[in-house]
Amino acid sequence: MGKVVAIANQKGGVAKTTTAINLSSAIALEGRSVLLIDMDPQGNATSGLGIDQQSLKRTTYGCLVKTSTIQESSLETSVSGLTLLPANADLAGAEVELVNVERREGHLRTIIEEVREKYDFIFLDCPPALGILTINALTAADSVLIPVQCEYYAMEGLTRLIGSIDLVRQSFNSGLELEGIVLTMFDSRNTLSKQVAEQIRSHFVDKVYQAVIPRNVSLAEAPSYGRPGILYNVASAGSQAYVSLAKEFIVHGEKSPR
Ligand code: ATP
Ligand code: MG
Repeated sequence: MGKVVAIANQKGGVAKTTTAINLSSAIALEGRSVLLIDMDPQGNATSGLGIDQQSLKRTTYGCLVKTSTIQESSLETSVSGLTLLPANADLAGAEVELVNVERREGHLRTIIEEVREKYDFIFLDCPPALGILTINALTAADSVLIPVQCEYYAMEGLTRLIGSIDLVRQSFNSGLELEGIVLTMFDSRNTLSKQVAEQIRSHFVDKVYQAVIPRNVSLAEAPSYGRPGILYNVASAGSQAYVSLAKEFIVHGEKSPR
């Protein structure tokens, strides 16, 4: 039974998708079987893995409204061992269509159950909002992994997110754990970046991964080539940081799900 991990932060542009793509690729390359579910109508994880959003016939949207299954909608990617459930702008419709549906927060959880035993890990790339899509992800997940950009107000945003996670835990998913916090786009020459990192480490202690993702141009370029950074330029500091993160993740994260 695969472990389901939501990659979430309501703040935009903090490297949720970059982390989703590179962490899931690096774990697949470690020999695990991985499914990445694109839960964002922006479809950045889909394009970043080289899949044309416009040409998609089956997507996360169809699975959530139950016109297709994850099994028949998933695609193999160029990364061996990594399968993708792709998304495009259609997914924005799910926000509206699920509004009046009973137990709307539990749809993703129900449909994931059908494929869960096929994978070691299932990652959910969440949109930058705490709407119904992210709530579905947090309800389906065993744990949540939070990418944080080391900048002013990071701590405030993180505290708010932890509050939302607590609410989901109380209402829909009592087993939801904090998998870990990963510091992203870190700039060692920037004093603020270092101060924020220290503040987050002193508050969340061993929940913060030792691996820190540096600001790195290869990671930013890779999506336009439709490849994960760790394949586009494996030697880059950014790729190496994601490889380290994957190893750390496997050591801490590979335990039996609820
Ligand atoms: P959204 O909230 O819109 O879904 P996100 O949290 O998924 O955004 P990404 O799309 O992963 O964030 O990253 C935001 C931007 O920063 C992208 O252009 C990405 O290529 C770039 N980026 C991410 N990580 C790094 C990094 N370590 N170094 C340089 N650029 C990065
Ligand atoms: Mg994203």
